[in-house]
Amino acid sequence: MDLRFEAIPAAAYSSRSQIARVATQAWVRRELPCLACSAHPLRATPENTRSRDFVCAGCGEPYELKSTAGRFGRWVPDGAYATFLETIRLGRTPNLLLLEYDRDDRSVRELRAVHRTLISPLALAARRPLLPPARRAGWQGCSLDLGLVPPSGRVPIVTAREPLPWPEVTAAWSAYAFMVRLREESRGWLRDVLAVIERLPRRPFRLEEAYAFEEELAALHPGNRNVRPKIRQQLQRLVLEGRLQRLRPGLYAPGEGAPAEAHAE
Ligand SMILES: [Zn+2]
Repeated sequence: MDLRFEAIPAAAYSSRSQIARVATQAWVRRELPCLACSAHPLRATPENTRSRDFVCAGCGEPYELKSTAGRFGRWVPDGAYATFLETIRLGRTPNLLLLEYDRDDRSVRELRAVHRTLISPLALAARRPLLPPARRAGWQGCSLDLGLVPPSGRVPIVTAREPLPWPEVTAAWSAYAFMVRLREESRGWLRDVLAVIERLPRRPFRLEEAYAFEEELAALHPGNRNVRPKIRQQLQRLVLEGRLQRLRPGLYAPGEGAPAEAHAE
């Protein structure tokens, strides 16, 4: 993986951010295979396609590129709050590519990918609406709280200017491949339960601590009245998939990655 950007004819663009956008997109097309199936190159979507910059021609996985000359912290700024919520509701959330670049050196410093199935509405924080006399008064942006995405769902690709071995990247990415195959409703429950687990201050955690989010989860899944059994069911599923361990009945800890034996709660 060559981390340097191609030269962009600066005269063709009106701003530094536009040049950066073109350079980083060209870099992704040139260097990055699909995380799910390793097909290369990713296909760029037409300009202004909503919530995806690339789609894999092999398996159809969508990607959105976010890049900065600074650093992405815990909060990643995104676009309109209502649009993002709708994108999640429709099951159209893209995988996020978070790329940090060096402006002087014109190269990639850091690159991480966030698994689309793990981006919960609970992780979106609305910003204050813009006030007049702003041109877009009333418009409300949002930020994504990466702290509510399980750490294993944020996969490093380039760290401190070093690309990680590709088999390592795809192995890490495949931890949540089972989510892609689920029906939308099941995927949504798992995603939201994973987000609330990230909010718990202590590990391991007890089943009752997960139950504390009952109302919030009920609000996100209005068709379902049996929220506690639903929470328990998600925890069992996550144990089966190796994303959690069950230490003893009612006590859970982050998983080691190996699928476990089935057992009833
Ligand atoms: Zn693919």
